[in-house]
Amino acid sequence: MIFTYSDCKFVINCIKGKWKTIKYYFKIKEIQKIIIQDLYNNIPEIYWIKAHNKIPGNEEADKLAKEARIEAELKQPKLLKSINKNKLHTNNNDGLTDEFINYWNIQWTNPFKNEFDKWTKSIIKNINESNWFYKEILLRLNNNELRIICRLISGKVCLNYYLNKMKIKNNKNCDCAKENEKIDETIEHYLLECNIYKNYRIILFNKVKKYVGNDENEINCKLLLTGFHNKFRYISLDNQLLIIRSTIQFVLNTNKKI
Ligand SMILES: [Zn+2]
Repeated sequence: MIFTYSDCKFVINCIKGKWKTIKYYFKIKEIQKIIIQDLYNNIPEIYWIKAHNKIPGNEEADKLAKEARIEAELKQPKLLKSINKNKLHTNNNDGLTDEFINYWNIQWTNPFKNEFDKWTKSIIKNINESNWFYKEILLRLNNNELRIICRLISGKVCLNYYLNKMKIKNNKNCDCAKENEKIDETIEHYLLECNIYKNYRIILFNKVKKYVGNDENEINCKLLLTGFHNKFRYISLDNQLLIIRSTIQFVLNTNKKI
């Protein structure tokens, strides 16, 4: 029988699957695996307890837990190492394909911090997020969906701002700009602002805003492209996919060749 006690509500909610954490995604998965390994004989129990602040029994438990951690760290120094996000990602323990790891390494260590890198990193922040996004989201999309989402995240799209960067077009203005007006046709503009696609955006936002407290102002590109929002961590995987597919539908409705 496994009993889990923690004074951290965040951890408990993550273990129960109520909250999402990208940073500790694989650690939480590991804990969930251990907790449910004997599910048919025992039902796991998880309790929140008050912090150890001057409660004698809790203070003692905290002391024992710290001692156990120090002992474990001495015996297994590898545990002490925290992930270096700038280091090349070389181990394949998380089940990533070699191709993906190579691609990631090239992108992540790319010394030319160009426009495309900056955009991509504003959507997928670091290796933890990319790992999570690949395993939880990308593997669930079909080829056509993958093409649209990956192009939007990589910034390699047929919108004037990017065509201009790639020296394919002279003008980076959006078609919605009036004479003498300067409006870059960026992904952000296309998804969130452009007047030409206003009606399709109303449909998209109506589908998505219920996940962010009915507040349209909370809808951003990261949410539309990954289904993840830092403030609203309770969005389930099914709903994340729903948000992403709504964005894909928006792209298809606009008839814009992305
Ligand atoms: Zn526009």
